[in-house]
Amino acid sequence: MKFRPESYRIPDEPMKPFIDPEEIWELLNRPTSSDREVEQVISRSLDKNRLTLAEVAILLNAETQHQSELIKEGARELKRKIYGNRVVLFAPLYVGNKCSNDCTYCGFRSSNRAQVRKTLTGEELVKEIEALEDNGQKRLILVYGEHAEYDPTYIAETVRTAYRVKKGNGEIRRVNINAAPLSIEGFRTVREAGIGTYQIFQETYHPEAYKQYHLRGKKADYENRLTALDRAQEAGLDDVGIGALFGLYDWRFEVMALVRHTNHLEACYNVGPHTISFPRIKDASMLHLGDRYFVSDPDFSRLVAILRLAVPYTGMILTAREPAALRNELLQFGVSQIDGGTRIELGSYTEKEQPHDLNKGQFLIHDDRSLNEIIEELLAQDMLPSFCTACYRLGRTGEHFMEFSVPGFIKRFCTPNAVLTLAEYLVDYAPEKTARKGWEVIEQNIHQLNKEVAGEVRKRIEKIKQGERDLYF
Ligand code: SAM
Ligand code: SF4
Repeated sequence: MKFRPESYRIPDEPMKPFIDPEEIWELLNRPTSSDREVEQVISRSLDKNRLTLAEVAILLNAETQHQSELIKEGARELKRKIYGNRVVLFAPLYVGNKCSNDCTYCGFRSSNRAQVRKTLTGEELVKEIEALEDNGQKRLILVYGEHAEYDPTYIAETVRTAYRVKKGNGEIRRVNINAAPLSIEGFRTVREAGIGTYQIFQETYHPEAYKQYHLRGKKADYENRLTALDRAQEAGLDDVGIGALFGLYDWRFEVMALVRHTNHLEACYNVGPHTISFPRIKDASMLHLGDRYFVSDPDFSRLVAILRLAVPYTGMILTAREPAALRNELLQFGVSQIDGGTRIELGSYTEKEQPHDLNKGQFLIHDDRSLNEIIEELLAQDMLPSFCTACYRLGRTGEHFMEFSVPGFIKRFCTPNAVLTLAEYLVDYAPEKTARKGWEVIEQNIHQLNKEVAGEVRKRIEKIKQGERDLYF
């Protein structure tokens, strides 16, 4: 993938801040867009170009109903064209909620005395991982507060545990991280434990707004956080995830800033983020934020569609913060990864009967479906649930590799791998009804592959039925 050089007022330099709020606002304050402009930008995106900030502003300044429909239709087509019907599944695992920061939107903030503080013991961590494996999970994201106890060595150790624990046919094949920004040395330590993606959300990219929400602790340093993923790249960790917490500042500004972050990483490291997340603020223990920047459902759908068009080759994650109906809808506009069977209270995969409790979790989730219920619903819509972890394990990451730059890659690798991982799930974990529909969907997908690949996939499915596991292309 070749990146177009673009120039912005703050030139891109590794490990230097790059957000100029005035420049972003000047673009956003341009007149409303014409139909022709909107159509031109959408067609550039459908040609798989990452959009410039000026182009994204045209989509954000598209105000008529007709233009909104054009944007959604464009996002739908791009999603179909690039990602097909695959949806990657994962689960979050909260390891510890001690925190020395004071982020006013978060239930874990240090000033919240109501929060029950806990770090999983080694034994509890193993049990949580076993419980996740028993459900069929293969991909985890480990989540931590920011606290001296959760240093890089500790994080690396928990990652190694997650890879080591195996129960029955269960195993975790990809461990991602959402934790505090580290030093270059720290990122190196966690990279050596074999992590997938390191995710850090900027929360709000607006420096003044950022100050108001981050009162104490290391996270109060906006620039340290903004440049964190540059340090990850310097440490050789080329698989990173960015995000903004929607509801803290103007959502249109955050969309522009996420794209600016993307092109900063491309300019400095020749590789954009692997994923973008766009959590919306949910109720949390002792939360009193006000709703000045609340993002409504229609605006949220619009922002997801615009992001899809803006960064055609970046994975987009939508979590169980959002209710099932909205998640199903947004899968059509570009979301490529969702979590399933999610529990966020510490230790709650093991203690299944534990009710949701704001004082034991970071915020309230709105999608309570089990992993199998989600898989059933995806299958009912002829989507292809995937637990694939092949690329990262074969070293197909970062600058050396971008799946969309390789013609025919999806049909040659992604669909077959999704099919094989779904087949494992159906054999090992699915109730009969899910399995029946699952095999039908597998058959439909195999039909669309070329003869040679289809033959190989069928052979491997037979091997899976006979007990072999972890077969991938
Ligand atoms: N402590 C690490 C940090 O701050 O980077 C880990 C992050 S936290 C456990 C994961 C993310 O949850 C945060 O980055 C934030 O975007 C999001 N979050 C925090 N409070 C939230 C809330 N009330 N509703 C929805 N998401 C929230
Ligand atoms: Fe701590 Fe992260 Fe919550 Fe901030 S968002 S209070 S750093 S856990």
